[in-house]
Amino acid sequence: MSALPSRIARRIRAEGPLSVAAYMAMALHDPVLGYYATRDPLGESGDYVTAPELSQIFGELIGLWCADLWQRSGAPAPLILAELGPGRGLLMSDLLRAGASVPGFRQAIRLYLVETSAKLRAEQKARLDSAAPVWVERIDALPPGPMLLLANEFLDALPVRQFVRGKKEWRERLIALDAQDRFIFADGPESLAASRLVPEGWRESAEEGVVVEICPAALALASALGARFQKEPGAALFIDYGEARSPGRATLRAYRGHREVSPLSEPGTADLTADVDFGAFLDAARQEGAQGYGPVTQGRFLAALGILERLAALCRGAGPKERERLEGAVASLVDPEEMGRRFKAAAIASPGLPAPDGFRDDGARP
Ligand code: SAH
Repeated sequence: MSALPSRIARRIRAEGPLSVAAYMAMALHDPVLGYYATRDPLGESGDYVTAPELSQIFGELIGLWCADLWQRSGAPAPLILAELGPGRGLLMSDLLRAGASVPGFRQAIRLYLVETSAKLRAEQKARLDSAAPVWVERIDALPPGPMLLLANEFLDALPVRQFVRGKKEWRERLIALDAQDRFIFADGPESLAASRLVPEGWRESAEEGVVVEICPAALALASALGARFQKEPGAALFIDYGEARSPGRATLRAYRGHREVSPLSEPGTADLTADVDFGAFLDAARQEGAQGYGPVTQGRFLAALGILERLAALCRGAGPKERERLEGAVASLVDPEEMGRRFKAAAIASPGLPAPDGFRDDGARP
């Protein structure tokens, strides 16, 4: 076994089976051997491609989304602009370039990047140096004041716990070792304690065998942002794959080199990810007094932001090859069969703020 799997195995031998979240945290975030510490997961040669990697239009539209909301909320300066998990910094550099067309916006920005990976921080520095970013490890380290925050494909990387409906109560799904020291899923005992962690909508109703995932870190993030935006002006936009409600089955999966692999094989060498439960996420923010918007499909969100008009404008000045490339990238972003439906956009905002673009017909549920 290589170094990280043996470290996880040692911990299981010493402490007993691990929660899926503890396993996921070690596999992704071990500061020396974890997936994000050791590799650049993004792009063609990585394990997956994200929207900002597909087309500059994605970041440009989000830049205009920010500038529009900033303007309609009184153009506060300075404005804290923060991104969670900025990857290679592409979204932010496209955003800043497009945002510069709105007078005063670029000058108002104080840029903060929340990133744990030293490797990706270095790439972000190379790409965004002219905007003088400040890196922080956690959102609690962001200064007070008016803020816009963005996160694309961030929530899906946060560790989830899984619960399986038993005969009377729920069991937590754990990760153990078999007789040959291979990682296996093993369910803990049915207990009231496990049942208590299952969201109320599922707790009583589910049939035996149903699996519910919860993401404590995402819920804590939503609560913290909700509490902040209840006191101070701000909004946060989250784009990720997931649904408005947990589907009642496990969604944890792993990708290595653009292929789906077992989440239990060679932890640390594959990306581990789970669908976002947007309903639970927005409810946690609403409970703190913020407004929650969405989720709406990425296809609908980008259409409302004018992706087709932007495509047409870019195509006018482009040759046939470039036009084909642009059209292909936009199709990947909006087609229901590609990213258009599986990916969703949701926002958390201060109660007094005007409705953000892309959610305006939707209304907000306080
Ligand atoms: N937003 C980028 C990258 C997505 S990959 C894009 O769309 O291309 C996920 C990003 O989140 C990576 O930058 C990863 O290092 C970072 N990340 C994951 N978990 C994190 C955590 N708990 N705290 C801060 N950054 C985290």
